[in-house]
Amino acid sequence: MNELTEQAVREEVRTWLKENWDPELSLMKWRSLLADSGWGAPGWPKKWFGRDLPINLVQVVQEEIKNHGAVGVAQSGVRMLAAATLLEHGSDDQNEKYLRRILTGEDNWCQLFSEPGSGSDLAGLTTRADRDGDRWKINGQKVWTTSAHHAQYGLLLARTDWDVSKHLGLSYFVIEIEQPGVEVRPLRQMNGHASFNEVFMTDASIPADMLVGTLNQGWQVAMTTLAHERRSADGMRQMGSIARGKGSIFDELAAETETVMEPYKWYPQRAGRADLMVDRAKETNKFQDPVVRQEIAKALILNRASQWTARRAREAQMLGRPQGPEGSLGKLAASHVARAAARVHTLISGADAMLKGSDGPLDGIIAEILLSVPAVSIAGGTDEIQRNIISERVLGLPKEPRTDTGRPFRDVPRNLAST
Ligand SMILES: Cc1cc2nc3c(=O)[nH]c(=O)nc-3n(C[C@H](O)[C@H](O)[C@H](O)COP(=O)(O)OP(=O)(O)OC[C@H]3O[C@@H](n4cnc5c(N)ncnc54)[C@H](O)[C@@H]3O)c2cc1C
Repeated sequence: MNELTEQAVREEVRTWLKENWDPELSLMKWRSLLADSGWGAPGWPKKWFGRDLPINLVQVVQEEIKNHGAVGVAQSGVRMLAAATLLEHGSDDQNEKYLRRILTGEDNWCQLFSEPGSGSDLAGLTTRADRDGDRWKINGQKVWTTSAHHAQYGLLLARTDWDVSKHLGLSYFVIEIEQPGVEVRPLRQMNGHASFNEVFMTDASIPADMLVGTLNQGWQVAMTTLAHERRSADGMRQMGSIARGKGSIFDELAAETETVMEPYKWYPQRAGRADLMVDRAKETNKFQDPVVRQEIAKALILNRASQWTARRAREAQMLGRPQGPEGSLGKLAASHVARAAARVHTLISGADAMLKGSDGPLDGIIAEILLSVPAVSIAGGTDEIQRNIISERVLGLPKEPRTDTGRPFRDVPRNLAST
């Protein structure tokens, strides 16, 4: 895309912002304007609240909105994963029903994939969906479900055929969380936040038209969700941050951050906060220490290389290449950066890094980094699973021997009694 086009987009969005942005509008009204103008999600198709812009121009639009001091559309990881998945596999009715509300923030979403017996082995899940007239009846348990306690809808992967190989009998649904058959129980994690839940489904009900994609081909749909999740691992440091300014809209935004965005408050810390390393070293005089300087340099180099990897993936996307296993490289790099940065923070802060809250450095941010970084190596597929994907699907190395495919899932030995 040439300079002129970029300039044209800048001017168009600037003019639109001058004419429309008003910090005294309600958040809902402003986000509706963004959604209907296509500037809220400029990379989405024109048919669905977007402008069909390539990714580099999407960034230009985001920059202009930020520079203007305006608020963007609603953003949370799972909401955007739902949108990405629906844009690729959803029916027109599903897109009509959900996409605009995703941008305005009227609905919150969660991802009902992992189960107590199936995390890395996601295709081994045993939550079942049985057809019951014009609905599906759902029974089973999910775990680690971020934000389920705030969600109206869930992206559910469930087994619809037990007599085929494990990847071939799964289907993907949108499920309403607020119904009698769904019970959400919060869990508290070691960094003190309570982002996750256990979700129990007992004869929960889903209308037949809320199947996403084709029956028994839910694995392909789930791969779309996971590819987007892995690709966005690099953007975690922005999550949980909040735009500030004067006007009633910012009060509404702050209230939203306190409630529905609460589960993501610690996400910048889970990315390791490489951005804090140099200032912290200067503040504490550790900048003179050659070992600390060397470790900071190493972490910054890793961080920069990881940003370039992410940028390369975006460029590939701009050229129209589909999301591939390369997302795993970015996800793995994000884990390495987070761990390297956490190590540097311990070198700089020493034992003080263990102090929580106002007793600790940066009001406990350093302690929160140490307690949150392990999550990066687990969420969205563990480091080991990313390595398996890279070795098998990028490097073409031989696959791990498998004993659980090529026969009906019903006959695969597993440690749960349910069938
Ligand atoms: C912050 C966070 C948010 C999350 N949010 C959600 C969510 O919203 N929705 C959701 O559905 N899930 C969510 N998860 C769950 C996450 O997807 C799973 O935790 C992850 O896939 C790992 O599964 P598991 O915990 O069952 O570990 P297991 O699969 O039991 O793995 C245990 C260990 O064995 C290793 N291992 C397993 N299989 C292999 C193999 N084949 N080769 C080599 N090593 C292997 C793993 O790498 C790991 O070290 C979240 C997790 C975290 C940390």
